[in-house]
Amino acid sequence: IQAHVSRLTDQDGHGFGAVGVLQDITEIKKLDQLRRDFVANVSHELRTPMTSVQGYIEAMLDSAIPIGERDKYLEVIYRETLRLNKLIYDLLDLSMIESGKEKWELNEIEIPELVGQVLLKLQPLMEKRRVTVDSRFTGRLPPVPGDEDRIEQVIFNLLDNAIKFSPAGGVVTLRAEEADDKITVSVTDRGPGIPLTDMEHIWERFHRVEKSRSRALGGTGLGLAIVKQIVEAHGGTVNVHSVAGEGSTFSFTLATNLAETGFFSNMP
Ligand code: ADP
Repeated sequence: IQAHVSRLTDQDGHGFGAVGVLQDITEIKKLDQLRRDFVANVSHELRTPMTSVQGYIEAMLDSAIPIGERDKYLEVIYRETLRLNKLIYDLLDLSMIESGKEKWELNEIEIPELVGQVLLKLQPLMEKRRVTVDSRFTGRLPPVPGDEDRIEQVIFNLLDNAIKFSPAGGVVTLRAEEADDKITVSVTDRGPGIPLTDMEHIWERFHRVEKSRSRALGGTGLGLAIVKQIVEAHGGTVNVHSVAGEGSTFSFTLATNLAETGFFSNMP
């Protein structure tokens, strides 16, 4: 609590009272702390790949490395620039959505078709990790009103995580079903799961269960935060269920009825 007190005086300067204003600044302080943490996180995330790019280029300029090694160095530099690029795109995405500047498109989304498109894009990762995705669509699913590119990004991020965190040779199950004019899409893996203590923070920007492991997998720590923002902008909800050591199920639910999505109320 912050207090501001002013003394009241008459024309001759004699005091006859005081006015006090009490302001609860806990919220302001909390927001300020969040902002500072965010800037620190972004700086750190940008610095790590930048330092490595710089180091490899310096080594190449020093000619301290045999010519045959150069390709390996270039490979690392290239990977790190891809990472920087993804980080910057993810940050821009988040800030556009959060500031309400995002221009949403309204499409009639056929979930099974969209899942098919995402799986095509993830084919190389699935092959690399020898993970298969088993898609199960229950009944005839009605189209969902929403921004198709953005919902594709949601499904992509959830499947990408599930494949990355699955044990090699594992199976990821994607289910889509309708109930009460809502469609729920869930993605289940048999990966390490999420400890209870991380559960409530899992949708926050840059929250990672095991920092080094998820960085090694090429993550930016922003994927789930983006998922939550997109789904909530569509008036939907996100959910996670996980047992540490057994696996996780991430899901989202969207209304099939445009009036219930609140979609237009989120548009500027
Ligand atoms: P990242 O780019 O690091 O994957 P996300 O926001 O997508 O960022 O995920 C945040 C963190 O949540 C991950 O670093 C990981 O620790 C945890 N996580 C996400 N998906 C899964 C999953 N399917 N299984 C286990 N942990 C997960």
